[in-house]
Amino acid sequence: MTQGGEKTIVVWAKFRPAAEDGGNPSCVSHVSPTSVQVAPQASALKTERRKAFVFNFDRTLDQSVTQEDVFEHGLPAVIDQAFLGRSVLVSTYGQTGSGKTYTMCGDLEPGGRDAGILPRAVQYCFDRSREVSIQVQMLEIYNEELRDLLCSDNPSPKRLQICNDRKFGTTVPGLHLAPASEASEALACIRQGIERRRTSETKVNKASSRSHVLCFLVLSDAVSGEVISRIGMCDLAGSERQNKTGTSGHKLKEGGSINRSLSALERVVSGIHDYQKQKQKGSMSHVNFRDSKLTRILQPFLSGRGSSVFILCVSALPGNAHETLNTMKFGQRLQGISQQPFVLQVAPASPMSGTHRRNLEAEFAAAGAGDRQKQERDQAFARLLARECAWSLLSFVLYSSLSGAFRALWS
Ligand code: ADP
Ligand code: MG
Repeated sequence: MTQGGEKTIVVWAKFRPAAEDGGNPSCVSHVSPTSVQVAPQASALKTERRKAFVFNFDRTLDQSVTQEDVFEHGLPAVIDQAFLGRSVLVSTYGQTGSGKTYTMCGDLEPGGRDAGILPRAVQYCFDRSREVSIQVQMLEIYNEELRDLLCSDNPSPKRLQICNDRKFGTTVPGLHLAPASEASEALACIRQGIERRRTSETKVNKASSRSHVLCFLVLSDAVSGEVISRIGMCDLAGSERQNKTGTSGHKLKEGGSINRSLSALERVVSGIHDYQKQKQKGSMSHVNFRDSKLTRILQPFLSGRGSSVFILCVSALPGNAHETLNTMKFGQRLQGISQQPFVLQVAPASPMSGTHRRNLEAEFAAAGAGDRQKQERDQAFARLLARECAWSLLSFVLYSSLSGAFRALWS
């Protein structure tokens, strides 16, 4: 997306080395600095036989790229924007086991070879400026519920809500803000948060992330305390197929929730495409960011209010051809929306979900029951009043007629 000529969504594709493949063929046949050719074998993909697909991105990172290269080649410039007042987001995206968490977090010690984007970004921010104070927030979206990862009263989930915010688009009020005076302090806090994150073992990943995690570095003016911007770092959970992950029970439910929120993200990205096309033709459609908590939180970064870098993580084994193509297609749509300037309208709330509707119906029924009770009370009161009035009238008539009779007798 560009605004005044400036690109606000950048898309990179990153391929993880497949240590276990022992030189097996890959479904990615060629990688140049900005393009990727995916050539799935017929056996791996029934519907799109032997067709080669070429995808163009802002940057591609082949298997030889180190964690340091990923950060140094472009991310300091993105973070610099936050120091100038523009919020930024860096997010990983891809199938489960493709290296998203390794790329975003890796080893959380900033000096190490395996340190991911998060520890490097923290170190960079603290090295860069002493005039800005930095606070940390960490949030997890688990089964469509928000959890504060820096709040010690977890695991009882704190009910957090996403609200509209004039400055940042959307925020989560009440999320714990941990102050940090140096990088090591911020990282100690982040490590605690990461430990609270839900992970489980699946067939494709020993420590599969079962939730989306967002870490925000909130930058404020050290003198006035005014918030300048936010640097968001998001490690998404990966899309997963039950036949590959071998999950059941609550892990299957988690997988379903992850897939639903990722589908909502895909629909939002497609929706932005449609929005742009229709806007060119003079008509306009809505983009439904309210379909999931993930899309609501990412809304400012997808709708041009902040800048973002999406890193598509790919595990290029032939058996992953289907997922690789899906990831590439998603990235292509993201790349597509980064070409034209636009300002999005916020969509109205999505059609009511079944549960929400049932809750409302229950509320109405309860309200109805209340009304019926009130009606019965009113009727009983009216009956009492009528009886009282009738007695008063009768007493008055009796009294008048008796006093008249006495007066007549007396006279
Ligand atoms: P995801 O978060 O996408 O599900 P992970 O980041 O957890 O996947 O990666 C799965 C496994 O692969 C982890 O053990 C991780 O250390 C390893 N891994 C991923 N990418 C790389 C890489 N580029 N180099 C070395 N190991 C990697
Ligand atoms: Mg992960």
